[in-house]
Amino acid sequence: MEKVVIIGSGCAGLTAALYTARANLRPLVLTGRQPGGLLTTTTIVENYPGFPEGIDGYELMTRLQKQAERFGARVKFACVEAVDLSRQPFGLTVDGEPVTAETIIIASGASHRHLGLESEHKLENKGVTYCATCDGALPLFRDKPLVVVGGGDSACEEATYLTRFGSIVYLVHRRDTLRASKIMADRTFAHAKIKPVWDSVVTEVIGLKEDKVTGVRLRNVKTNAESVLDCAGVFVAIGHVPNTRLFKGVIDMDESGYILPKQGAATNVPGVFVAGDCADQVYRQAVTAAGLGCAAAIEAERFLAARNE
Ligand code: NAP
Repeated sequence: MEKVVIIGSGCAGLTAALYTARANLRPLVLTGRQPGGLLTTTTIVENYPGFPEGIDGYELMTRLQKQAERFGARVKFACVEAVDLSRQPFGLTVDGEPVTAETIIIASGASHRHLGLESEHKLENKGVTYCATCDGALPLFRDKPLVVVGGGDSACEEATYLTRFGSIVYLVHRRDTLRASKIMADRTFAHAKIKPVWDSVVTEVIGLKEDKVTGVRLRNVKTNAESVLDCAGVFVAIGHVPNTRLFKGVIDMDESGYILPKQGAATNVPGVFVAGDCADQVYRQAVTAAGLGCAAAIEAERFLAARNE
């Protein structure tokens, strides 16, 4: 039986692993489908303390994993398919195999939100993507007009990154001001290749006949006017949805699916703790996720110590 199982391997999960490993609890980290979490899909991380020149997201997560492993954490590339939190020890089904655990730290993070259009779904990986750093360099986007949808830091980051490849990058946002931080917004607008398209939503991704993206249909939300923008790629950067489906009905969460922590990192089920973006709709930063991972680890350690007394 495991003392601590950590579900997720982003900043929150791996920091929880580091702390529980240093408490000699030999945590088992189940990575999920994206080892290292969403940060591995970004380029340079400039706001993680301690790296004045910034650090590549993938490198940061690789270093964090090594640091946790150095103290005895076991990181397994595996997905949790089901959990039974109704009894102690807790039961998990991990890639078809049963695992039991005295405590669980949920650090399952969040995934990219989709526009919810049928055409978007059908053209995914045929010009529709959710990660510029993963896909931006593909030949189909080279020297072509590209569209980024969204108005947050992610959209700005994606648009700036894509200027390396596209002929022009349209930033399509549903309002006339960005949600992004000022520094990111200023950097974005300073770039000659980025053209904002305000007050507009994508109503259709065009290209089903050609089996690849050829454009987007837009609707101006103020005038209701429709237009078509030719492009070879649509990069959707409209935020995230928490990966908490497994815990629905058992762990308390809000209507958007974000887990509601109690007294720091605890949940409504004793022995189950939570950390990171799956419980944080507000800050969602690498450093806050790491801090919450640390808190969850300390809570799990205290829980186990109190039980053994
Ligand atoms: P976000 O801040 O939630 O922004 C999402 C954007 O998408 C908003 O502009 C929103 O519009 C728009 N949007 C949401 N749903 C939409 C829909 N259905 N159709 C069209 N537009 C839609 O998400 P994020 O940009 O991914 O950032 C998440 C967090 O990570 C933030 O805390 C951010 O600061 C952080 N982050 C930081 C960095 C960095 O510092 N390097 C980089 C990336 C992300 P409205 O504005 O109208 O709501």
